[in-house]
Amino acid sequence: MSIKGVVYTRSEWESTKKHWGGKCAYCGGIRAGKKNLTKDHILPASLGGQKVMYNIIPACSKCNSEKSSYLVEEWYRRQDFFNEKRLMEIYRWVTGECYSVCRKKRRGG
Ligand SMILES: [Zn+2]
Repeated sequence: MSIKGVVYTRSEWESTKKHWGGKCAYCGGIRAGKKNLTKDHILPASLGGQKVMYNIIPACSKCNSEKSSYLVEEWYRRQDFFNEKRLMEIYRWVTGECYSVCRKKRRGG
C-alpha cells in the first residue's frame, strides 16, 4: 500500500542525512562510521510504514539489518548504545516537528 503521488526525493534524503549529521540515527555512527548509510523505515514497511520523509532516517547497515521489522522502541531500548535523546529526536522526526522546521529553513535559501 502506498499513497499515490508521494515520492521520496533524493534531496529529501540528502537533507535527512544532514539533519542527522551524516550518521546513523541509532548508534550515531559508532558501529559503522559514516559508511553504508541506509534508508531505515522508522515504522517498518512490513507494518505499513510509508517511504516518506518523516518515516525515513539514516541507519548504518548493522542497525538497519538488526532492527529489521521490529518497532523502534522495542529494538532500540535493548541496545547498549541506546540513547534517550536520540530516541526523542527520532520521535520528533516522526511527528513532523523536525520536518516542518527543516522545510521552513530550506525555503529561506
Ligand atoms: Zn547504527
